[in-house]
Amino acid sequence: MERIRPWFYDQFQCIAHLCDDTCCAGWEIYIDDASLANYRGDGSEFGLYRQSKIIERADGATFALGENKRCPFLNAQNLCTMILEDGASSLCHICTHHPRFYKEYGHYDEQGIGLCCPEGSRLLLSAPLRFQRHQVDGDTPLDPMAETIFSLRGLLQEILLDRELPFTDRCLEGMELAQQAQSQLYGDGAPQGEVLATKEIFWQVLLKEMMALEPIDQGWQTYLEAMEAQLPRLLAREGDFCNSDAYDPDQYGDIAAYILYRHFPDALWDGEIVARFTFAVRSTLFIHLCYVSAWLEQGALTQEDKAMHLKNWSKQVEYSDENTQQFLQSCKENPVLLGPCR
Ligand code: SF4
Repeated sequence: MERIRPWFYDQFQCIAHLCDDTCCAGWEIYIDDASLANYRGDGSEFGLYRQSKIIERADGATFALGENKRCPFLNAQNLCTMILEDGASSLCHICTHHPRFYKEYGHYDEQGIGLCCPEGSRLLLSAPLRFQRHQVDGDTPLDPMAETIFSLRGLLQEILLDRELPFTDRCLEGMELAQQAQSQLYGDGAPQGEVLATKEIFWQVLLKEMMALEPIDQGWQTYLEAMEAQLPRLLAREGDFCNSDAYDPDQYGDIAAYILYRHFPDALWDGEIVARFTFAVRSTLFIHLCYVSAWLEQGALTQEDKAMHLKNWSKQVEYSDENTQQFLQSCKENPVLLGPCR
C-alpha cells in the first residue's frame, strides 16, 4: 500500500493548555468499546471517578460534558487530568488520534491533520504544501477507477499549486478539467456554471449558502450576518487587500489543494468530481472573504488570524457531516457557485 501524508503530519503536536480553541470542549466525545471496557475494569480511585463521568446512551458511551460543554477531565489550566493521572495511553481512541484523520481507499492509505485544530491550520499555512509518499505493508491491488480518481486529484492539485498562475485562473483551469473528467467517466450531465456572474452576486450567493448551514454556535451566525451587511464595503476594498502584504494567493492554492486532498477521493463513491472540486475552491474563496473582512476591521491580518479563520471554516463546514453534504449539494446545483465570475 502507498501511504500519503502532508509534510507537516509528523511535526504536529497538540499545544494543550496553550491552545486558544481546545478540542476538549464543545463536542460529544464517544468512547470506543475497548477503552470503555478498560475504564469499567479500573477500580482505582481515579478509575472510579472516571466511571462516574461516563454516560451510557443508546448511540454509545460518552463523557458527561460540564459547563460550556467542557470535557469533565479538562482542568482549569486546560490540561487533561486523565493524562496527568493515568498517562496518555489511557486516552480513548478519539482523544488519542484527534485531529488526525485516516482514510483507506484500497491501495491508498491517506492520513492528515484536521484543520479544525488551530495548530493544524497554522502548520498548513507555514510552508508550501507538499505530500510525502511511502510504501507500507498490506498490498492491495489498484482498482482502475480508484487509480483514475487519484490521478485526477493529482492533476487538479498540480493546477491549484501552480504558483505561476493567478489563483482565479487555477480555479478556472481546474473546473474545466473536472467537468471534462466527470463527463468522460460518468456520461453527460456534469454540473455546469452560469456564465460570468458579477463578483457582487457571487459573494452574496456564497454567503447565503454558508448562512444556510447549521451554525456551530450563535456567534457564527452573527459573524456571517455582519459580513453580509458589510459586503459592499468588502467589495470596494478587496483590491486594496489584494495589494497589501496580507494577501498571499499561493496560500489559497495550498488551502484548496489540502481540502481537495481530504474530500476529493469520496468521488469514488458518489461520482461528484465537479462538486468536490467546487467545494474546495469555493470554501477557499469564503476563507478569502473572511480575511478581507478581518483585514478591514483590524487594519492588518497576521498568520495567526489567517489560521483562526481557516480553523473556523473547518469546524463549521467540514467537521459537520450534515454541513459538508449540504455545501457539496450547493456546489453541485448552484450555477453561480459553479461558474466563473468577473
Ligand atoms: S485543538 Fe489541536 S492544539 Fe488545541 S487542544 Fe485540540 S489537538 Fe490540541
